[in-house]
Parts: sequence; C-alpha cells; structure tokens
Amino acid sequence: MKFETRAIHDGQEPDSLTGAVIVPVYQTSTYQQEAIGKHKGYEYSRTGNPTRHALEVALASLEEGRFGLAFASGVAATAAVFSLLKKGDHIVAGDDMYGGTYRLLERIFKKWGLSTTYADVDEPISFEKSIRKNTKLIWIETPTNPLLKIIDIKKISNVSRRHNILLAVDNTFASPYFQRPLLLGADIVVHSTTKYIAGHSDIVGGAVVVNDLRIYNDLKYYQNAAGAVPGAWDSWLVLRGLKTLAIRMKAHQENALYLTKYLSKHPKIAGVYYPGLPSGKNYAVAKKQMQGFSGMFGFELKGGRQVVDKFFSRLKLFVLAESLGGVESLISYPAGMTHISMPRQERLKRGITDNFIRVSVGIEDKYDLKEDLKNALSIL
Ligand SMILES: *Cc1c(COP(=O)(O)O)cnc(C)c1O
Repeated sequence: MKFETRAIHDGQEPDSLTGAVIVPVYQTSTYQQEAIGKHKGYEYSRTGNPTRHALEVALASLEEGRFGLAFASGVAATAAVFSLLKKGDHIVAGDDMYGGTYRLLERIFKKWGLSTTYADVDEPISFEKSIRKNTKLIWIETPTNPLLKIIDIKKISNVSRRHNILLAVDNTFASPYFQRPLLLGADIVVHSTTKYIAGHSDIVGGAVVVNDLRIYNDLKYYQNAAGAVPGAWDSWLVLRGLKTLAIRMKAHQENALYLTKYLSKHPKIAGVYYPGLPSGKNYAVAKKQMQGFSGMFGFELKGGRQVVDKFFSRLKLFVLAESLGGVESLISYPAGMTHISMPRQERLKRGITDNFIRVSVGIEDKYDLKEDLKNALSIL
C-alpha cells in the first residue's frame, strides 16, 4: 500500500472492544491482571500502552522499517540510540547537526566514556577517514541543520557496512514522506516527531525505527528501563498529525520552492540555501535520495545583524521562533538563537554567518507569504 494509505490505517484498525474508528486515548498507567502474570499484553504504561503501540506501528510503517519505538522527545530518542554503545566506544558524526545532539554528545555522553569525531559533511571521504578501531556508530542528519546540506546516505552506508559500524540517520528535516533512510542502507532512523510528523507545533516527541530485531530489543529494553516514553495523549496527537503528513509535506514543499525562487532573484538577498534549487550544489544528491525537498530553507540578507533585526521586526506572518515543521511559518536566527552558545569563530567556520536566516515554511497561502517577505525586505 501507498504511504498516504498506510499513514491512515497501519496500526490504527478500529478498536476491537468498541468499534471506535479512531484509536482511543488509553489514559491509564496500569492494567488488570486476571491472575498473576495473566494479562492482555499490557502491564504498565511505561512498558507498553495501546495508544503508544498504535503510534509505534504506524511510525515503522511510514519509514518502511520493521520496528518503531516512540519517545518523549527527539532528544530522548537520540539518547536511546547512544545507549546502544558502551564506555570507550567512538562515534563519527556529521559536523552540521542539531545543536541538542551535539550537546548530548559533548556534555552528557562524553563523561560516560563516549567520544565523537565530527566529519566534514561537505567531504564524504572525511567520514571514513574519521573511523577508528573503536568506532561503533556513524551519526548523520540530512538535510542538515541549519545549513540544509545533503549527505549521500547510500555512500555513507557503504562505509558503515564495510567497517561493520551502525549508521543512524536523523530524518527529522525530510520526514518519512520525502526520505526513507532504511531503504538507503541505514540501520537506524531517528525523528523528532515534534516537527513534521506531528506537524502542528503542539507536542514534543521522538521516535526510532529499525529493522534488526536485536537492535530493537536493546532499544525497547532501554525505553522501558530509562523511561522517557510519551504519554497516551501526546501519542494520540502524533497519530492524528501523521495521518495528514503526505498532504502537508506536499504543501510545505510547494511553498518552499515558490519562496526560494522568489528570494533567489531578490536584490537584497545574498544567498539562498534549499536542496530543491537546481543551481545548488546539493541538488543532485537530494534528487537521487529524496522524493522531495521538504519545507526548510535558509537565506542570507545583504548586511549584518541590524538589517536582520529590522527585517524581523517588519514580518507579520512569519513567527520568530525555534522549532520547525508546523503548519505555520516560523523564522529563526541561528547565530543568535540555536547556535548562540557556539563561539563566533567556530560558527563562522561552519558557515553560519551573522546574516543567515532559517525558515520553516508553513502551509499558508504562498502569495500571502511572499507578500510578507516582500514587504519586510522593502524597508531594508
Ligand atoms: C528538534 C530536533 C531534534 C530534537 O527533538 P526534540 O523533539 O526537540 O527533543 C533532533 N533533531 C533534529 C534535526 C531536530 O530538528
């Protein structure tokens, strides 16, 4: 069955008890046992909950994987993957990635004995060059945050296979509608379901999808033992969101294509970053491994911080906020928001300039969005 159909039906059969068409919110912590150890498959909601279970089945289906696990946040899902490693293990990670993943590696797992080398995502060969004897995991994110670079998943998976290392891909920016890393050779897919999958900026959640039963069992054990699980209500909201993922992603992409074309020609714009622009250096790989280019883009204004502040103050529809993937358009300033803790030199070295702006385009009318940008640019 096709993606759109699976999103609505997989894991979401009518309730066997009542016939309810929508999976109920099983707002319960515990479950009756008929006799000691005799129950209907659920004992305690940290271990398992029917609403969460429906979500986990649906998530696995969307990624075309065998097993899904839902977590309380994207960061909790990421931590679950790192928990597969042990003291002394080494990770190779892309150097353009979500700040919270970097923080988790450097501030939490480093002191537990994991070390990380950051490979230059513009040079795929640097991933292989960074591998050591104790490397157990390659971690990538594509498209990357915030610069929207594309990493060739198949190429990296060839490296990971050759060295017998796990490859994990954070697929948050593309969503499973536009990219399915497991089909490209990845072992593990991670999501912040907070973003496109839930899609309405109203919950925080995460997910991991895998094919290998042993990895699944280890992650499932960790999920119950460490306990960062989503509640039934949040699981239900993610389920409600993912039913419309396909139509939302098409709309996000249409708006992103339209606006990046407009901005590319604007005299006050110094550069546009979007994998869907045929003139960009990431286009060929994006076209090969993705079914679309998603709704995230970046651009640089001509001028410095003052120009950025002025521009933001004039916007009416684009909301200045962190996060992404919701139905409403959000705009953010990495140098002063998500990457503020990074030393300026380091930030500039990575290409995050003082006039770089990141956009998560929503599904509003594209002409209204263009007018908003046009109006704000006109005063600069
Ligand atoms: C937001 C985000 C995360 C973290 O997810 P939370 O749900 O905020 O914990 C991880 N990776 C990427 C790419 C993200 O955008």
